[in-house]
Amino acid sequence: MEKAVSPTTAGPGTTTSPRGAQAPLRTCLGCRRRDQRSSLLRLVAQGSGSSPSTVTLVPDPAGRLPGRGAWIHPTTECLEQAVRRRAFGRALRLATGIDLGQVRAYVDAVENEHDERESGGCGRHLPRHRRGAGDAGMETESGLDADESPMSTHQ
Ligand SMILES: [Zn+2]
Repeated sequence: MEKAVSPTTAGPGTTTSPRGAQAPLRTCLGCRRRDQRSSLLRLVAQGSGSSPSTVTLVPDPAGRLPGRGAWIHPTTECLEQAVRRRAFGRALRLATGIDLGQVRAYVDAVENEHDERESGGCGRHLPRHRRGAGDAGMETESGLDADESPMSTHQ
């Protein structure tokens, strides 16, 4: 008899939230979904001066690096989708090779963090019940009769 989810008090027609303006939405280059800036990772292309043939895409979680930014969810899935679609090149107007080493490392770190948090708590929750381990020996102590059991006599 639980009330599962109490219906939100939003009546029909009142979908505009008063604070909507505070959270500008960005589009993830991987899954193409729009999401809040805080859920997405900003990536900025940094050209290395010496070799303009390659730019390095660096994660910019603080959102402070200058230049054109691209946004993805910090997950391997979205990253790979964006790579496959060459979305970075288009979003950042780059015709050159893009070095994603730093981005991959960042996404890996984020995902590992989540994994540990999720599996660490409940995974090792094995109850240790070992009752009667010591008591079990008490009965055999009086079993001296067993020495002369018929089983041990050879024919
Ligand atoms: Zn995404």
